[in-house]
Amino acid sequence: MFKEFEIPTKDRYELIDITDKVEEIVKQSNIKTGLALVFVPHSTAAVLLIENETGLKQDWLKVFKKMVAGFDFMHNRIDNNADSHILSGLVGQGKVVPVENGNIIRGAWQQIFLAEFDGPKKRKVIVKFI
Ligand code: ZN
Repeated sequence: MFKEFEIPTKDRYELIDITDKVEEIVKQSNIKTGLALVFVPHSTAAVLLIENETGLKQDWLKVFKKMVAGFDFMHNRIDNNADSHILSGLVGQGKVVPVENGNIIRGAWQQIFLAEFDGPKKRKVIVKFI
């Protein structure tokens, strides 16, 4: 079982809560138990599990910007987005979440986010059940 959806992003760096969309796909799948891989087929975006709180989202963006600041990136000579590739790799392009009784198991402060590092773009999110 495999599903995908598209998310348009607006900013170069952006965090977008996709929990509702992923949970809707899990409900529609009728899968009761297993694992759901939430994956982005992109090398400049990522999937992150964090609390959906405005201040915390800004904190994450601050940390991301600082992590890649001050480097003379070689990749920027051909394509000005080395920072985007590096953050995508560090955060990870997919996360696996457990599914039990037809629901994703997650903490109350653990929402699923698409992390955009090279927007604005149209991003694909894939949900694959195991
Ligand atoms: Zn590039």
